[in-house]
Amino acid sequence: MAYQPFSVKDEVVRALYGRSTSFNLNAKKLSNVPECVCRLTNLSVLSLSYNSISGLPAKLLSLQQLTELNLGNNALKEVPAVLGHLESLKKLYLFRNQITAVPPDVMGRLRNLVVLNLNHNKIQRLPPEIYSLSKLQHLSVLDNKLEELPDEVGQLTELSEMNLTFNELPCLPQQLYRCRELTKLHAARNKLISLPEGITKLPKLQVLDVAGNKLSVFPVEFHLLPLKELYCEGNRFVQCEPVSSLQDVEVLTLKEQVARFVLQEDRNKFSLIHTMLPHHPHLTTLLASASCCAVCRSPFLTTWLECVHFVHLKKDVKVKSLQTIPVRALLCSYKCFNRDGHGYYGVQPGK
Ligand SMILES: [Zn+2]
Repeated sequence: MAYQPFSVKDEVVRALYGRSTSFNLNAKKLSNVPECVCRLTNLSVLSLSYNSISGLPAKLLSLQQLTELNLGNNALKEVPAVLGHLESLKKLYLFRNQITAVPPDVMGRLRNLVVLNLNHNKIQRLPPEIYSLSKLQHLSVLDNKLEELPDEVGQLTELSEMNLTFNELPCLPQQLYRCRELTKLHAARNKLISLPEGITKLPKLQVLDVAGNKLSVFPVEFHLLPLKELYCEGNRFVQCEPVSSLQDVEVLTLKEQVARFVLQEDRNKFSLIHTMLPHHPHLTTLLASASCCAVCRSPFLTTWLECVHFVHLKKDVKVKSLQTIPVRALLCSYKCFNRDGHGYYGVQPGK
């Protein structure tokens, strides 16, 4: 059989006659997408990876049936604008390009995305419009330059896996606790100094990788998460060194004393305060940040003692590891701190 050089046009003609729904132009040394590809309006899967494509033709918007697009290993510098018009897209792969910019208007229109892979690019930030991706289940931004994540990530209520490994993140959004479907969170090799307290409210979190960060302690009640795997080596965890109390009695502000009284009364459903509180929304908001003493379970608002307790991963969290991790705990007073029989150690004076 005679050797026939590959021709995109011939392939497109064949695909047109065959009414193909899937088309593959991987590794064809393309520097742009031939416009004839835009005539394959039946396509649901288009793969263009391993080329050197640096932009997409505007006519690509004629592929309105497209649900999966692979542009991995190319030369894109930003997420192409035309993608914002491909509203049926469910899976979008943009790994290993040179993307620095994710335009908000493009991101805001990809409402049906389920999988978004932006691995190995140079992205510093994702726009708040990410909240539009309300069906997103897998978000992967591995090996980029992310310095922050917008709080709007918390609106991705279908998100089950998020990979943020190898970035520059100093923290994760406080709103993360709203991603109640999250089962796997990879945030290794960042600059995390703490995890958001709300992370302990994620009811399905099974895999957490925070290795190679700057964590000193895990959030309050962290050990109650249903974790099966935890990776946390290479952090700066506090060591088990008992600190004795220097002060016996603290003087609470009037505001704190009143707050503690109101919070305590609010627990009694027959009290007048419990009945009246819902009619004072500004007070309810103020008291919403209250916590509860790890020793006596009494409520407090803004004054506490910052402590840690050490949790055995195997015994207390059911993770296969012999390691012990420090978990943050808040105590209401030196009186509780000085009580015998608890395993809480002071780390720094309460604020
Ligand atoms: Zn207490």
